Amino acid sequence: MTRYDAVVVGAGPNGLAAAITLAQAGCATLLIEGASAIGGGCRSAALTLPGFVHDVCAAIQPLAVSSPFFRALPLAEHGLRWIYPPAALAHPLDDGRAIVVSRSLDETAEQLGEDGPAYRRLMRPLVAQWTALSEDVLGPLPLPPRHPLPLLRFGLRAIWPARMLAERRFRTSAGHALFAGLAAHAALPLEAPLTAAFGLVLGACAHAVGWPMPEGGAGRIPEALADHFRRLGGEVITGWEVKSLDELPTARAVLLDLTPRQVLALAGDRLPAGYRRQLAAYRYGPGAFKLDYALDGPIPWRAPECAQAATVHLGGTLEEIAAAERAVWQGRHPEQPFVLLVQHTLFDPSRAPAGRHTCWAYCHVPNGSTADMTAQVEAQIERFAPGFRDRILARHAMHTAALARYNPNYVGGDFNGGVQDWRQLYTRPARHWPPYATPIPWLYLCSSSTPPGGGVHGMCGYHAARLALRRMGAAPPQYNPFHHAPARTDPGPALPRAPASSPARGAPGV
Ligand SMILES: Cc1cc2nc3c(=O)[nH]c(=O)nc-3n(C[C@H](O)[C@H](O)[C@H](O)COP(=O)(O)OP(=O)(O)OC[C@H]3O[C@@H](n4cnc5c(N)ncnc54)[C@H](O)[C@@H]3O)c2cc1C
Repeated sequence: MTRYDAVVVGAGPNGLAAAITLAQAGCATLLIEGASAIGGGCRSAALTLPGFVHDVCAAIQPLAVSSPFFRALPLAEHGLRWIYPPAALAHPLDDGRAIVVSRSLDETAEQLGEDGPAYRRLMRPLVAQWTALSEDVLGPLPLPPRHPLPLLRFGLRAIWPARMLAERRFRTSAGHALFAGLAAHAALPLEAPLTAAFGLVLGACAHAVGWPMPEGGAGRIPEALADHFRRLGGEVITGWEVKSLDELPTARAVLLDLTPRQVLALAGDRLPAGYRRQLAAYRYGPGAFKLDYALDGPIPWRAPECAQAATVHLGGTLEEIAAAERAVWQGRHPEQPFVLLVQHTLFDPSRAPAGRHTCWAYCHVPNGSTADMTAQVEAQIERFAPGFRDRILARHAMHTAALARYNPNYVGGDFNGGVQDWRQLYTRPARHWPPYATPIPWLYLCSSSTPPGGGVHGMCGYHAARLALRRMGAAPPQYNPFHHAPARTDPGPALPRAPASSPARGAPGV
């Protein structure tokens, strides 16, 4: 007898989204997580000193609040509270000032001087249409698009290399630098086609929905999602690292929140040779070198306006950011890396003891790098905040191997589930349509190695689960927060035991 309609392996944001979508449609769903806690790349932990809460991976959530699926869930009922700093991000410059991107497009544009009108022209249509656009952008190749005109307008700008778009649209080094910092989230050379898309999406989010953080830590997002899933009747098991599909209980659909390398290990010869070859050829991208700090005071920014934003981009000019990202892509470690920094405790004092602060920072490094980039990252912070080092009470570092130990989805430290260039953004993880399906009719992929790729948005999971539901003949719910299935009351047969060789993972550390 089948106990479960669906089994989801991996409780990252996408696994949770898939599990909820299935449970909303009335499917008896089991969610299995290998680590000792759910959340994947969206967890918090006391990495430094007692009383300090750090986000181990994801820290800022413009994609979560843009996600049509997450937006429709009653997550506030499960304790999720969003904190919106006055500005989305600050980009300090060497002349001592900083460009601050606030919700107001006009206020932001004014700081860009002669580039102000061009910034307004670039962002305004995207900001105005962001809610509609997010439905097409946060999914598989939208054929046909739900919102053709906004998507066409976006696409005509998005296909450009970020550097070319910045240099054609803006004249000042501040305008160039601001766009370069936004686009560098792609972890691609800024000369690569489609990198403008990342700058446009993150810029549009900043003005349309903000770049918020959950009160208490990133881990509050998966906690709220898991609570909601359980309320729908779903079951969660942690500490079970699945090594083979044969371990799983019988189900009509199995969804893997895993990247191609792990899918190959789990499914092995069950997959046809052609598809296996494609998964084996899947390209992983740069990794992250991650630092967390406990500080005895706020970061002493030279440009005080940096304190208005949680996120601060440290890379100076477009030329410098482009050189750093190009070096990483070529397998080198930049002396002046582009550093993404978040100062949560300025806006969420619950994350540190009174008067103390946290700092979250990372830079891109070549895939598999075990280099210690602490000195380079701290030099970049000191450049814009002299005296930062004197505020450090404790630090915690993770190179790419530590990230991969913490979460096996970070293959070589790649935090986007694979390179997100034009060759692989929509054809991830293989040239197989729909991308969430595999040649095994009941096996689906739902991780960030499927469209729309990396980030905490859950849309890979949502789209994969909808496909599975359609194939099971169930009506897939569509962003429907009121479609709550009744909780299951029958216990069903006993679950196969997790193999004794599956140790609980999940403790971060180099
Ligand atoms: C340093 C860093 C900073 C980031 N910052 C941001 C940010 O600010 N904002 C943002 O939106 N995104 C950010 N990200 C990216 C974000 O964390 C990921 O894109 C997102 O978590 C992907 O979700 P997912 O569900 O696809 O996979 P994951 O979150 O990776 O979840 C996969 C889950 O599967 C589990 N698993 C793996 N193998 C097995 C197995 N064999 N059996 C059982 N379970 C298994 C893992 O333990 C994990 O819990 C960041 C990532 C890093 C590393």
